[in-house]
Amino acid sequence: MPKTVQVAVSNTAYHFDKLYTYLVMPEQENLVRNGSMVLVPFGQASKARMGVVLGCDEVPVNAKLKAVYDVAPDSAALTPDLMRLVLFLRERTFCTYYEAVKAIIPYGALYKPALAADGITPVLQKQLTRHTENQYSVAGELPQKPKPTAKQLAAVALLNGGPRLLNDLEQKGISRAVLDNLCEKGVLCCEKVNKSIDRYANIPYTGVNIQLTQAQQQAYDALAPHLEDNAPHAALLYGVTGSGKTLVFVKLIEQCLALGRKALVLVPEIGLTPQMIYRLKAAFGSRVAVQHSALNHTERFLQWQMIQDGGADIVVGTRSAVFAPLKDIGLIVVDEEQEHTYRSESAPRFSAHEVARQRAAENGALLVLASATPSTESYYAAVKGRYQLVKLTQRYSGNALPSVDLVDMRAELAAGNPGDISRAMESAIRANLAVGKQTILLLNRRGYQTVTMCEDCGEVLKCEKCSVPMVYHKAKGELLCHYCGSSIHPAPHKCPSCGGKLIYTGFGTQKAEEELAKLFPKARILRMDQDSTSTKDAHERFLAQFGRHEYDIMLGTQMVAKGLDFEDVTLVGVLGIDSLLFAQGFRAYENVFSLVTQVVGRGGRAESPGHAIIQTVAPGDPVLNLAAQQDYEAFFEQEIIFRKLSLYPPFCSLCMVGFTGKKENEVAFAASRFAVLLGQFAAKQEKLPLRVLGPTPCTITKINEKYRYKLTVKCRGDKAFRTLMRQVLAAYEKEKLPQKASVILDMHSDGDL
Ligand code: ADP
Ligand code: ZN
Repeated sequence: MPKTVQVAVSNTAYHFDKLYTYLVMPEQENLVRNGSMVLVPFGQASKARMGVVLGCDEVPVNAKLKAVYDVAPDSAALTPDLMRLVLFLRERTFCTYYEAVKAIIPYGALYKPALAADGITPVLQKQLTRHTENQYSVAGELPQKPKPTAKQLAAVALLNGGPRLLNDLEQKGISRAVLDNLCEKGVLCCEKVNKSIDRYANIPYTGVNIQLTQAQQQAYDALAPHLEDNAPHAALLYGVTGSGKTLVFVKLIEQCLALGRKALVLVPEIGLTPQMIYRLKAAFGSRVAVQHSALNHTERFLQWQMIQDGGADIVVGTRSAVFAPLKDIGLIVVDEEQEHTYRSESAPRFSAHEVARQRAAENGALLVLASATPSTESYYAAVKGRYQLVKLTQRYSGNALPSVDLVDMRAELAAGNPGDISRAMESAIRANLAVGKQTILLLNRRGYQTVTMCEDCGEVLKCEKCSVPMVYHKAKGELLCHYCGSSIHPAPHKCPSCGGKLIYTGFGTQKAEEELAKLFPKARILRMDQDSTSTKDAHERFLAQFGRHEYDIMLGTQMVAKGLDFEDVTLVGVLGIDSLLFAQGFRAYENVFSLVTQVVGRGGRAESPGHAIIQTVAPGDPVLNLAAQQDYEAFFEQEIIFRKLSLYPPFCSLCMVGFTGKKENEVAFAASRFAVLLGQFAAKQEKLPLRVLGPTPCTITKINEKYRYKLTVKCRGDKAFRTLMRQVLAAYEKEKLPQKASVILDMHSDGDL
């Protein structure tokens, strides 16, 4: 019975973030435990704040302590696993305790402060209230006097067969008034149950039903033994596109469940979840829970509750699914492990990898990182023996990887074609249409025209709030900022600075769609980008339609490049990715290599072999050429040398410290002040290797009226370094500079904010 508790309190400033001790009232002793969500008085005015119990003491304390106001039901309490994750996240990402709690628990499972009916007593209230519904069941005899009505008789007759939901009863013509009246009489009773909304309920169950190929079986055999021992183990499953990595881990999941343990499957983005959910639900039925960002709060909470209650054996989802409250995890799969989406870009800036590794270690689970283009860091770890390396070198179909041609767009222009679609691309698409096969086209820019420039002064039209060019969207006839969403409507004809004529250039997906429609009037073209898929479920619906061959060409941004598996796609075209070739950040080469290899890999996955065409203005680019050859190992050899020579991960850790604020000079000052503090604290610790670069403005100097500066710290990302950074952060926060800027720490960035 806890007499006092240590509580992580919400909304504390960084340098006040510690555990606060509270008294537990005798009537609460049975309700409070480690992990409980509580409401506590905080500060001079004893304002009610949310908190989570992270420690309990059975010994009464004499000091004059404040007492806990309220305790949430037991079902809301954090499991020991999740409590450990709170501590882990705080340690790794420099966030506060409660920020970590909020990252780990979905919004719908959280509580908020409210007042009791008396208007004075602080109490807890659920964030979500509409996730339950009424369920009725029989509780007593229906009195024969006064004579029961027909509806009453019908209600009781129905409910004699077992409890039913209000909705169901109403559909059978029995109103809520009738039911409430029977409850008052004690004939029925009503309880609140969680709604069941499962939008994946209709996927037919087929069972696992997989015959692995010999190569797949070998990969499986190399991995499966690590499911059986309870020791943590990490492996990299490196398999070329179409080699059947998914089937290997479906088999591993089957074995994991057979051993009585649970499995967690992470996919990099929302677009790939439907396909994975479909495969897993078909194979394993209803005990698959889903956690991803496209679920609404209620759906997400209900799925989470199902996991928390032990109702799920498998959880599949995007980045934050790594926090699913699964108990006894035997297997964690991180599919397409190189994807940047596994790294959070808002606080707390965690990487799903590190959390997955941590959970695998705590649970004695097997961690499988899978990819056709592993991140340089992961492959290096495998080469060095820190991960087991398992390879699949052949496609399942037995086909070779698609053949790739590079088309030089400068030569194309010189030869008299000023268009954005080369003649080679055009004839390949035409030929593919003629044989009734499907085509995937990648263009890494959404919008219609992507650059607006003044003919006279040469000025590029930028967003007023952000230092980025505005993009022309034709349907609405406006210029749009892709960073802050502001628009200029209608799109102007004259330069705002000199009045000269504006010319619109650049090639976005909307323009590509239009040009394709001109070239191939009979082709059915599907455009997939953020604009066309913004409505709920659009993404899923489009992919299903493409799968049913309702379209001939799928044209889109990054979202068409990865993971998709359609057997009739035999041609892949890259209309443009040149901007990526010149991108900043130490992972830029890796990103190009991965994107091109992945998109090329969408073709020729079944019987018919695939072909790919890449349009570029830099046909000699070495990374592009390695990607065209789909030679990952050659790419890795080259990349690892670059990383070593320029000192980038995996040869050091990179800690990016970002500063943002409304006044540029204040942001710059804050950054240099932080650098000074860092220097002072670091000087006290001789054995800590550090290299601090900056402060410099970020690549994009301003977003949404906020200026952005950064310090780049190359370091050994170990405990000693984190302790140092925590000291610096606390000192920085304590100074409360008048020129205060928000500070962001990121241990996983590409080198920019
Ligand atoms: P990867 O993820 O490695 O790119 P997938 O797992 O998507 O590849 O598999 C590629 C295609 O080959 C899928 O359509 C898959 O169903 C099929 N496939 C792979 N292995 C097998 C197998 N053993 N039996 C049946 N189909 C398979
Ligand atoms: Zn903007």
